[in-house]
Amino acid sequence: MPSISTINKTLLSIPPSGIRRFFDLVAQSQDIISLGVGEPDFITPWHVREACIFSLERGQTHYTSNLGQLELRREIAIWLKRKYSLKYAEDEILVTNGVSEGFDLAIRTLLNPGDEVIVPAPAYVMYEPLVRLAGGVVCFAEGLEKNNLVLKCEDIEKKITKNTKVLILSYPGNPTGQTLNKIELQKIAKLVKKHDLFVISDEIYSELSYDSIHVSFASLPEMRERTITLNGFSKAFAMTGLRLGFICAPRNLLGEILKIHQYCALCASSIAQAGAIEALRNGAEEVQKMKEEYDARRKLVLSACKKIGLVCPYPDGAFYIFPSIKKTGLSGEEFALQLLKKFKVAVVPGNVFGKNYADHIRISYATGMEDLVEAFKRIEEFVRGGGK
Ligand code: PLP
Repeated sequence: MPSISTINKTLLSIPPSGIRRFFDLVAQSQDIISLGVGEPDFITPWHVREACIFSLERGQTHYTSNLGQLELRREIAIWLKRKYSLKYAEDEILVTNGVSEGFDLAIRTLLNPGDEVIVPAPAYVMYEPLVRLAGGVVCFAEGLEKNNLVLKCEDIEKKITKNTKVLILSYPGNPTGQTLNKIELQKIAKLVKKHDLFVISDEIYSELSYDSIHVSFASLPEMRERTITLNGFSKAFAMTGLRLGFICAPRNLLGEILKIHQYCALCASSIAQAGAIEALRNGAEEVQKMKEEYDARRKLVLSACKKIGLVCPYPDGAFYIFPSIKKTGLSGEEFALQLLKKFKVAVVPGNVFGKNYADHIRISYATGMEDLVEAFKRIEEFVRGGGK
């Protein structure tokens, strides 16, 4: 057999996802309260599951159009216009296997070898490996400690070189839960125009914005033509396992993106697409209910962190907080391992999201209120005991 060391060199240099690595450990333990996973604890609303079942019963199990079912793309176009004032035609929307596939397609479409890509940090784990696999060079733009890790336009500007091709935006963000406000986005838009950049805007948590209305980057003047917008059904609609997202881009660019999807995926699941149509048509009430529950939990975890003295960037959205655990004297990795071993609570160490975040942990509050209260009791005991 040929040696494994002869396979793709970039791939060999990429470690497996740090979140998954940690959760393999969690899977080996019993009675754990997990504040680790980045997925809704809610089951997909029944009417959406039912629509999937009906589509199976009707035998809708064939390939759909490569772009995704026309009926679904129509619903997405209506939803985007109503929610975020985005104007995309049916053939400017491509239904994908989650935002994960969407990001991979977008970055592979834009990059030539050596092109630089600015990635906001702390960053969700998929951006760096997929940029590198597409031949790009990652330049992290970090939100400063004094700005509570909120990314500012200046942090991005510092990273721009003559080789910069793409800026990635991801807001509300994972792992901080922070969002970008309209004023900052307008400044970023000016910068993007000045340096003639493409933008990939991952807005998967757009519906989970608690304090202000989400502003979609492509809705800003002159940004639509250079932006690839990613969104999907995993988070706000609680449909992670159905694997459904979508890409929006100007027609000529989407045509190029479609070529990769055509060859590597053909289309997204026909059953999931039936569920997504139902979710967009009749799911608003359920989404709102889940959002209100997340918001109540957000308030609870914020006040629990305050009580324990764990400082975190203010989370405007998503379902994460990213407190500093510096005062315990432990690294995030040690903190997470000890907390798991001694108090049976799972969190994710901050270094998973960037090497400069080793003294943070990510806590997901996509977990029931009762478990959250109990977990924070244990975290308090752990911290007050000096991490022992
Ligand atoms: N983008 C961000 C910022 C995420 O946090 C996640 C999942 O945690 C994804 C994308 C992946 O989304 P999907 O399930 O649609 O592939």
